[in-house]
Amino acid sequence: MTTQTTTAPAATPVQHIPDGLPERIQHFIAGEFVDSVGGETFDVLDPVSNENYVTAAAGQKADIDRAVAAARKAFDDGPWPRMLPRARSRILNTIADIVESRDARLAELESFDSGLPITQALGQAQRAAENFRFFADLIVAQSDDTYKVPGRQLNYVNRKPKGVAGLITPWNTPFMLESWKLAPALASGCTVVLKPAEFTPLSASLWADIFREAGVPDGVFNLVNGLGEEAGDALVKHPDVQLISFTGESSTGRLIFANCAPTLKGMSMELGGKSPAVIFADADLDAALDSTLFGVFSLNGERCTAGSRILVERPVYDEFVERFAARAKNIVVGDPHDPKTEVGALVHPEHFAKVMSYVEIGTSEGRLVAGGGRPEHLPTGNYVQPTVFVDVKPDARIFQEEIFGPVVAITPFDTEDEALELANGVKYGLAAYIWTSNLERAHTFAQAVESGMVWLNSHNVRDLRTPFGGVKASGLGHEGGYRSLDFYSDQQAVHITLGPVHTARFGAHETPAS
Ligand code: NAD
Repeated sequence: MTTQTTTAPAATPVQHIPDGLPERIQHFIAGEFVDSVGGETFDVLDPVSNENYVTAAAGQKADIDRAVAAARKAFDDGPWPRMLPRARSRILNTIADIVESRDARLAELESFDSGLPITQALGQAQRAAENFRFFADLIVAQSDDTYKVPGRQLNYVNRKPKGVAGLITPWNTPFMLESWKLAPALASGCTVVLKPAEFTPLSASLWADIFREAGVPDGVFNLVNGLGEEAGDALVKHPDVQLISFTGESSTGRLIFANCAPTLKGMSMELGGKSPAVIFADADLDAALDSTLFGVFSLNGERCTAGSRILVERPVYDEFVERFAARAKNIVVGDPHDPKTEVGALVHPEHFAKVMSYVEIGTSEGRLVAGGGRPEHLPTGNYVQPTVFVDVKPDARIFQEEIFGPVVAITPFDTEDEALELANGVKYGLAAYIWTSNLERAHTFAQAVESGMVWLNSHNVRDLRTPFGGVKASGLGHEGGYRSLDFYSDQQAVHITLGPVHTARFGAHETPAS
């Protein structure tokens, strides 16, 4: 392990503790905040002090049963699934207005609970509002297929909400990722049970008041906190839940996939990644440098689409490595609440230990050129220096496995074929970033790379209408735009006969006289 000099202050910063933290975090079921039926709780730590700052209700099967029953009742008997799209859209826009008006507070709480830098948490809160506004627009603009079969039939699609949606979310950018599922599920007319990540339950608890103020009827939104193997597992196995939208690790996705099978649920899975950034010698190196640094170190590196493997064409390799390492050493690691902070504290001591173990593994798998441990000026809290390993071989664990922290592997290549083989040589396939000024190569490479999403000469900026999702071990099903509405809806085909019906007349022949 090495230490490095950064521009951050020498002393450990004083931790910012938000005013008005809740005394405890409860479930929200049928319009009421409630504790677990059996009174179970779990401790929630903040990632700077690693001290327990609140306890949260730990949902069990009985709590999930209550929440699903409330969601079922609201779906079967309540107004939400039957409202005109315009009426639901107005409520979704009000939700967006409220989220926007509270963005600073949301960011403060999110940053405190997750360790994300405050400026980045603010951007995520604003994106959450945008998710609601986007789906509010989409449901009023939506059209479905109608076909005329000349002279015979009219066929049309009758779109219907699917039922009760189970939403299971991870701890990186929790509030934004919850909005990503809540907005299309509610827009479609489903009722929901949200099970947020146990490391970061604070911001999820704010949805309840936001929805209530916006006029969402009781029972439409239900929240059950708790551990994945208890609350999450019960939600996945519940027979009255029609679909599960899951974002998290690939290994958890595999388990949930199997657990959905007995009740044949619809599933959408957004899973892990080990995305390549491929830099050809003809690229705009300044732009590629800014973008790849941001791509792997923003959100503390706890980002599913992080460009955590950088492949660089040999002629510019040394220059790129030198400049990348110099910039990485200069990144400000510090108090998540400080607006100058670029990398904050990792979410939880367990995750910190996992990331540090990969840093240790990396020292025997690559050449360390920046970072490599805890910053000297931050003796406590889950802080990790932006860490850069170069000359990493494709069979290295730090090349193959998702680390989900501020750690990057850089590898040289000589030919386009070799770059493609390296890019595709992992089990994941979420995103890919390609840097070249050769138009033909940009498109050929983009189409050959095994990833759900490709960015050419850009980092991760995405229009909400485009598909989002991965291939291989990175996911199953694509959400985004109308695809999300399709996931939360049934599309019933209705066929109407025009004029006389032409049917073969079984049993209509003359019975011969006996
Ligand atoms: P995780 O899989 O450990 O947990 C995700 C959620 O699943 C949590 O709410 C957890 O409680 C729940 N869960 C765990 N076991 C369960 C079970 N047996 N049944 C039901 N629910 C269960 O993931 P994490 O550590 O919270 O998140 C990090 C992972 O998420 C990374 O792999 C990252 O790449 C991935 N991720 C993917 C995307 C994407 O869009 N592809 C986006 C963000 C994060």
